[in-house]
Amino acid sequence: MKQEDRISVIKGIGEKTETGMAKLGIFKVGDLLEHYPRNYDVYGEIKEIEALEEGETAVIEVAVANLPQRKKVRNLQMIQCWVSDYSGRLLVTWFNMPFLQNKIRMGNHYLFRGKVIRKNGMLGMDQPVILSKEEYVNQKDVLQPVYALTAGITNNMVKKAMSIAIKETLLDKDYLPAEIRKECNLIEEKSALRKIHFPNHLEELMEARKRIVFDEFFLFTLALNYLKKQKEQKSSNFKMLSTEACEELMKRLPFSLTEAQRKVWETIRNELQGDSQMNRLVQGDVGSGKTIVAELALLMTAKNGFQGCIMVPTEVLAKQHFQSLSQDLNGFGVRIVLLIGSMTAKEKREVYSCIKNHEADVIVGTHALIQETVEYACLGLVVTDEQHRFGVKQREALFNKGLEPHILVMSATPIPRTLALILYGDLDVSTIDQLPKNRLAIKNCVVATDYREKAYRFIEEQVKAGHQAYVICPMVEESEVMDAENVIEYTEKLQSVMPSYQISFLHGKMKAKEKNQLMEQFSKGEIQVLVATTVVEVGVNVPNATVMMIENAERFGLAQLHQLRGRVGRGGFQSYCIFVNGSQSKESKKRLEVLNSSNDGFVIAKEDLKLRGPGDLFGIRQSGMVEFKMADVYQDAEILLKANEIAKRFTEDEVKLLCKKYEGIRSKLQLYTSDLFL
Ligand code: ADP
Ligand code: MG
Repeated sequence: MKQEDRISVIKGIGEKTETGMAKLGIFKVGDLLEHYPRNYDVYGEIKEIEALEEGETAVIEVAVANLPQRKKVRNLQMIQCWVSDYSGRLLVTWFNMPFLQNKIRMGNHYLFRGKVIRKNGMLGMDQPVILSKEEYVNQKDVLQPVYALTAGITNNMVKKAMSIAIKETLLDKDYLPAEIRKECNLIEEKSALRKIHFPNHLEELMEARKRIVFDEFFLFTLALNYLKKQKEQKSSNFKMLSTEACEELMKRLPFSLTEAQRKVWETIRNELQGDSQMNRLVQGDVGSGKTIVAELALLMTAKNGFQGCIMVPTEVLAKQHFQSLSQDLNGFGVRIVLLIGSMTAKEKREVYSCIKNHEADVIVGTHALIQETVEYACLGLVVTDEQHRFGVKQREALFNKGLEPHILVMSATPIPRTLALILYGDLDVSTIDQLPKNRLAIKNCVVATDYREKAYRFIEEQVKAGHQAYVICPMVEESEVMDAENVIEYTEKLQSVMPSYQISFLHGKMKAKEKNQLMEQFSKGEIQVLVATTVVEVGVNVPNATVMMIENAERFGLAQLHQLRGRVGRGGFQSYCIFVNGSQSKESKKRLEVLNSSNDGFVIAKEDLKLRGPGDLFGIRQSGMVEFKMADVYQDAEILLKANEIAKRFTEDEVKLLCKKYEGIRSKLQLYTSDLFL
């Protein structure tokens, strides 16, 4: 089979599996091969029930003690049964696997492998895999790939399909010539593919990972360097004049800009007035006030008779920006429209026509802004907020919507300057390195789970005082469906503890419309406590919220925790962040201590790297840069530098790419950039 073939060519993949795989973004054999494991584990020894610990994944050998019961909780099918060994008993639960009811027999012995959880004070096991004795014995010490899954797709299904695909796919010759592989100490592409999915031991895995990370960085930096070269010294098609309106807007704000905001704004203003097209990245920690800088730039653009748009990664954020822009720019004669995926076709058509006929000056939206159907009358400025969530491709797509508009990119990801210069190679970088003066430092605490009751009382007090709180729910690794279930259950529990307040939940499985509505209610103060998954991570701004409580904080990356914490402390009120540590391990304690002792994103990123060290393969990904499936900008910084060095050789001397030897690289680059330049 070939990489371009549909996955249905793989034996065992029928229509149903194909649909499921599509949800994971896997359509072709090549997509499957690039569906890298998100982790690995080893089965290890069989454990006694008595010795199980909450949070661990373990194999148990048990007898089924009762007839499996079928239950329905909301729209989830559950199968439950009690199992026991001589040391104790345990409740086992499967979700959405009704067929197990007839498969699991009372009195029979089984090997189960799954995560030990605590429910209503008792230990249990959710969604265990059933292993045959033979499977277990053969695989006991082998590194098992763990894949991202979705409803209807099990890890075993992916494993089976993968093993066939790896054996039977005809791969092209390695695109990297031996000379580069040798210089960078890289194994062959083909071998990396096998070893990343089915490593025989840790060393193989490390080699494979290194090669794949290199490829990701190399192609990325190659494309970026190439882009930069094309863009160099473009003259401005949208040369602007300064406008009173911006001064007026600043006067009207209830605060004055920080020194850092003012400086960055001045740079941007000068560039918009200058002769060259602007390409600028504004970095600034969460809460440093990046939005207002974008608003000023958009106002200036509109006042100069051009259109400006701002693209954000989520609908919730788009709505929020739309509202604050509408408020702040009210009375300036600027027409603002919102464009998001969940609008009706009719609503969208109206907005499209406004954009095309220049009846809209500022357009706020999500990816919907780069749909083919959107035509801009005269797009002079493109802003992307929370840029790390977008790829270069999306940025380029938006750029191509106009006649080389000015580009302003905003990001809160704290990336060291040397790396930022590479990753944002086509952009100039400014930093807002100061928080607004009215801010009180967030007070942090790291606590164990038995502190929960106290935390609830504390939240109640804050709510009584008129404030609001977020509770981030424990993550369930297995699936989004179960995450949702978890959030709903947690909300019910919390509601019974705090019956007199409005508590609602928000999770990724909800419809965009529902999410938007809830966030709106929360920002209006109609909801006091919002229980959520990490969907609130990015950009959400409700300054009245003063408590952030994060359950299972040990399961998140530090950078992500920092982003989550950034949802509070956005106004003048004292705010608090409670990290609930659900693990006993010393390491998670140490990691969380970093957050406890600093509120500075850069410091946290640095400390995190130190703690994890370069050998940590399974470190939680930090950057969330969409371009990379495997690479982690922090952890793999050295590989990034090397990849960039090699990439530069090709862009500095373009003739080089024409050599026969580098044919493979040339066609990879073309593939990588084809959607940019078509
Ligand atoms: P971020 O940089 O995380 O995007 P925002 O732009 O959303 O931050 O700003 C966070 C909050 O701080 C907003 O409520 C905003 O109105 C407020 N803010 C921005 N600049 C200042 C300032 N100079 N002084 C006081 N508050 C400010
Ligand atoms: Mg923001």
